[in-house]
Amino acid sequence: SRWVYSFGGGGADGDASMKNLLGGKGANLAEMSSLGLPVPPGFTITTEACTHYYSNDKQYPAELKEQVAVGLATVEKLTGKTFGDTANPLLVSVRSGARASMPGMMDTVLNLGLNDATVEGLAKLSGDRRFAFDSYRRFIQMYSNVVLDLDHHMFEEILDEHKERLDVTVDTALTAEDWEKVVADYKAAVQQELGQAFPQDPHAQLWGAVGAVFASWMNDRAKFYRRMHDIPESWGTAVNVQSMVFGNMGDSSATGVAFTRNPSTGEARLYGEFLINAQGEDVVAGIRTPQALTKIAREEMGEKAPSMEEALPEVFTQFKAVVDKLEKHYRDMQDIEFTVEQGRLYMLQTRNGKRTAKAALKVAVDLASEGLITKEEAVMRVEPASLDQLLHPTIDPASPRDVITTGLPASPGAATGKIVFSSDEAERLGSSGEAVILVRDETSPEDIHGMHAARGIVTARGGMTSHAAVVARGMGRPCVSGAGELQIDGKAGELRVRGRTFKAGEIITIDGSKGEILAGTVKMIEPELTGDFATLMEWADKTRRLKVRANAETPLDARTARQFGAEGIGLCRTEHMFFDEDRIAAVREMILADDEAGRRAALAKILPMQRNDFVELFTIMEGLPVTIRLLDPPLHEFLPHTEADLQAVAEATGLDAAKLMRRAKELHETNPMLGHRGCRLGVSYPEIYEMQVRAIFEAACEIAESGKTAPIPEIMHPLVAKGEEMRFLRQLTDKTAQAVLKERGRTIDYQVGTMVELPRAAIRAGDLAENAEFFSFGTNDLTQTTFGISRDDSGRFLGAYLEKGIFEKDPFVSLDQDGVGDLIRIAAERGRAVRPNVKLGICGEHGGDPASIEFCERVGLDYVSCSPFRVPIARLAAAQAAV
Ligand code: ADP
Ligand code: MG
Ligand code: MG
Repeated sequence: SRWVYSFGGGGADGDASMKNLLGGKGANLAEMSSLGLPVPPGFTITTEACTHYYSNDKQYPAELKEQVAVGLATVEKLTGKTFGDTANPLLVSVRSGARASMPGMMDTVLNLGLNDATVEGLAKLSGDRRFAFDSYRRFIQMYSNVVLDLDHHMFEEILDEHKERLDVTVDTALTAEDWEKVVADYKAAVQQELGQAFPQDPHAQLWGAVGAVFASWMNDRAKFYRRMHDIPESWGTAVNVQSMVFGNMGDSSATGVAFTRNPSTGEARLYGEFLINAQGEDVVAGIRTPQALTKIAREEMGEKAPSMEEALPEVFTQFKAVVDKLEKHYRDMQDIEFTVEQGRLYMLQTRNGKRTAKAALKVAVDLASEGLITKEEAVMRVEPASLDQLLHPTIDPASPRDVITTGLPASPGAATGKIVFSSDEAERLGSSGEAVILVRDETSPEDIHGMHAARGIVTARGGMTSHAAVVARGMGRPCVSGAGELQIDGKAGELRVRGRTFKAGEIITIDGSKGEILAGTVKMIEPELTGDFATLMEWADKTRRLKVRANAETPLDARTARQFGAEGIGLCRTEHMFFDEDRIAAVREMILADDEAGRRAALAKILPMQRNDFVELFTIMEGLPVTIRLLDPPLHEFLPHTEADLQAVAEATGLDAAKLMRRAKELHETNPMLGHRGCRLGVSYPEIYEMQVRAIFEAACEIAESGKTAPIPEIMHPLVAKGEEMRFLRQLTDKTAQAVLKERGRTIDYQVGTMVELPRAAIRAGDLAENAEFFSFGTNDLTQTTFGISRDDSGRFLGAYLEKGIFEKDPFVSLDQDGVGDLIRIAAERGRAVRPNVKLGICGEHGGDPASIEFCERVGLDYVSCSPFRVPIARLAAAQAAV
């Protein structure tokens, strides 16, 4: 079979649709080549070769050698150079490239094919000995690091020694002779470390690099990244072998990276950085400060060094045209890598650019407005979970700022936390729930776990496209990069800046939108929900079928929910109406009462307070449906827990201390989760539920009487398991509701239903549907009762289950679609068989999880309900599920 695909010379064997086989980089190199763009010729070894390699004891496919030889011959023909030839050597880069882009996960080897003989050929051919040896030293370092697994610090130290000896600070100040000496030292170091010489045979070099790319697919960094992004190991990576072009051939040469739009804000303007006389990753490595691409960007930043537009005007014009063409062709913002070799432009990579949530929104809305994509496509372009970044606070501009220092605004949003200097420490503190800010000179792929655990990231070095900046934007963590004034002393556990010292553990705040680092905590403000956000949400709302409600019980939550576009309340937990300070005494009195009459007397005191709560809630919800769950937790939760508390309560309220204590003992349960709770309370003490129903309907009448839109109360009974329970609760509810409505002379639409949170309820949903007009799947408890796993204790062992792959995801976060999902499917089916218009919703934590929402769409539920802050996420996820 075929393992190698060529590209270059205005054509290609593959195209952009072949990402699975050629990887993202290879597929797009092929596509760009076929578009007639200047792409250095090369070939791609397929991901299937990688999979084959791993499933066959690390053996290459039999035909691979021969096909690579053919690929290499094609490149030689197109370039007119010969691999290993001492007079006219072909040099190549060896680049990894998986299906999904994994930035920084696998390292590229440049200038491969150089050895002691070909370097002389390159020097002669280019007439530039300095360039030839600069390329050779880069190659030795990269190859030694990536393929021979030698520490790159060793090479950096050697280079630093030379620079010190020569008394220069920048690499560009080294001469040909200097580089020759560096090369000699590098080779000696390799010999010393490995006991053998740096490989001189170009073919051995090539196969060494190919093997290293395959091996890097299984390194820890790659594994971690895959786990974090749900990328299957089975995909494998492709290998791209591409003829080299040189950005380090003097002052008419350069290398750079560009985004067709600003990846941080989405602004529709070319954005990026470049370096003159540089190669490969110099731009992102933060060794020299990169320059702006456009004049206007340079002016805005107040930079002196000329932009590409000014320094290389002709190539820039060509580049701008290519970039525009690429964005139109791919119909999305592109992230581009390019090199200029002595005034000639070469395209080395393009892909859909990673972006912040803010930029994703703006780019999607703009592209739709520009007519490049449809509104529906725009809705699909924004990751629902990423909206989280926009829904979170930023620093209040009015609050005083104690700015310690500034850097680049690398990833927006604000965060406060304790200073930590190492990624391991960040992970350690972060996993115990501490808010930390990771402060580093720079980050590398080894820091990913620490960046993930931190609330925000600060680096002293590196630009807007540095590792820290790119990764932080992808993770949605605020980041300030290149804060050059910071002197970080990890050993002493402190940082010094502008005469101040901050120790590890001290609190700082970072503003990733402004690039500021501030001392202490700073007041934050709520996000703006207008502009592009509102536009995209409007398009999403037109697309979705599922309704979205919120879980809310306080006026604040209800208001937030409406502001975020909730179409009602899907779960109002009434327990807080028992806990509030003004009524807890009456609640305890009720619990202590010896008989029904005593309980009713205490409940009469609670009634007006609950009625007021509902009036407030219904007013905010203005005629929208409100699902009210009657009292759910066991009564002992309302009693004080320690003897001292009991005494204090007794004294404060005049209740009998001995009696309180006795009652608390009586109510004690071994397993409260499965104990006297939910509708079991309503069955044993109907007067409690009657009081609640009365409060709801009196409130509803009050609203209607005041001329406002009456709400649509949905009375929900928790923890129902049997049809007979539901019948009893239905009668109780209807009787009380009718009594109130009759007293007031009103009719108000309402529904009575149940929360489905026990397996028996799901299986016997037909029985329940005889008396329940709606089901709300309480998937927190349903998950708990289906698995028999206590939600509160699962933390102790779930980690091991996730690690061993027994659980793919925490079932309390993302719905277990096979098991719990099956119960939902069964309940929906059996419920509808008895009552075709039974209303179905979900109100567990899962109601705000995009994957679970997709499931809800598939089973045909009517609505999802989630916490107020997740409502926009649910609206967008519901829209995407409907497409
Ligand atoms: P990554 O996936 O980490 O971005 P790449 O394979 O894109 O790695 O390589 C990194 C950089 O190396 C590129 O942006 C480019 O500057 C340089 N590079 C790769 N291949 C070549 C080549 N054939 N000629 C010149 N530079 C190259
Ligand atoms: Mg890289
Ligand atoms: Mg790249």
